[in-house]
Amino acid sequence: MASSPVGVPSPQPSRANGNINLGPSANPNARPTDFDFLKVIGKGNYGKVLLAKRKSDGAFYAVKVLQKKSILKNKEQNHIMAERNVLLKNVRHPFLVGLRYSFQTPEKLYFVLDYVNGGELFFHLQRERRFLEPRARFYTAEVASAIGYLHSLNIIYRDLKPENILLDCQGHVVLTDFGLCKECVEPEETTSTFCGTPEYLAPEVLRKEPYDRAVDWWCLGAVLYEMLHGLPPFFNTDVAQMYENILHQPLQIPGGRTVAACDLLQGLLHKDQRQRLGSKEDFLDIKNHMFFSPINWDDLYHKRLTPPFNPNVEGPADLKHFDPEFTQEAVSKSIGCTPDTVASQFWGFKCIPWIFLCTG
Ligand code: AMP
Repeated sequence: MASSPVGVPSPQPSRANGNINLGPSANPNARPTDFDFLKVIGKGNYGKVLLAKRKSDGAFYAVKVLQKKSILKNKEQNHIMAERNVLLKNVRHPFLVGLRYSFQTPEKLYFVLDYVNGGELFFHLQRERRFLEPRARFYTAEVASAIGYLHSLNIIYRDLKPENILLDCQGHVVLTDFGLCKECVEPEETTSTFCGTPEYLAPEVLRKEPYDRAVDWWCLGAVLYEMLHGLPPFFNTDVAQMYENILHQPLQIPGGRTVAACDLLQGLLHKDQRQRLGSKEDFLDIKNHMFFSPINWDDLYHKRLTPPFNPNVEGPADLKHFDPEFTQEAVSKSIGCTPDTVASQFWGFKCIPWIFLCTG
């Protein structure tokens, strides 16, 4: 399994005196008792994700629950805000997870997300070791479409890896976890926070140089490489050696790949970000690469292409693609409780409305 992300986003200038000017609440009446929390389906860096059934209409959602205490302890409000801001913005893209609304109690934050139960790409890749090119092409194209869309909103994703790529019940890609996203980066602008996941860090991030949106195209190359070969491109169990490889070792592509696949990998995994595929016209550079010539991008966007693999899920209760390590865990009673006093002292609001902030 890939390592945990490193680094944290830089401080948010928009918050003064510990409060955030949040504007009107998206869902002021929502509370934990609206839901039956059925199963734990995943764990992130800051909390759990649960399958939940809304009592009023029987709809299923994935609810991300975060402990305020641990957020505050880790000074992670910025991270959470970045995630929340991006989640709200992304609702109109087919390959990004949709956030329905959020709310909070004095102890916890709740993010109500579309429920995606085809499993993590990581889970399927581990089971099958590697994918054939047509299948890898399909996922890479859907992910590239989502990343291109984020870039069009001046957002750098920064943490692309198989664990953050879910499949929906039909087998389409759904990108989750926007915790390391960097907002408000204009096309030519750079940022410098050291963050990402070790296996997928671009050389310029490792060198602690200012970097731009081309880091996401490096990560796309690393994910494509892993899909085709079963391991990330410069992998080593010794992290220091892996960093050394990312910085200095020439890319080695095992035999058996088409010329188009090799050329795309060389282009995306170029150590010099100015020479990297995607550094000129961003997503357009990727779209026009010969590896994607079988893809009709309009059909792809509208989900008119049949996914190469059907997860065969039998309804929302089918949890076969989730790790039993999570689903067998007992759901803590406190998750579904609404305390008598809901008025929150956290950021001065009972429920979190959604606003757009620029992180520093
Ligand atoms: P995250 O904190 O976003 O990284 O989520 C941790 C794990 O929870 C992910 O790797 C997924 O396995 C699972 N997960 C997150 N969001 C969803 C979702 N919307 N639907 C289903 N599972 C999810």
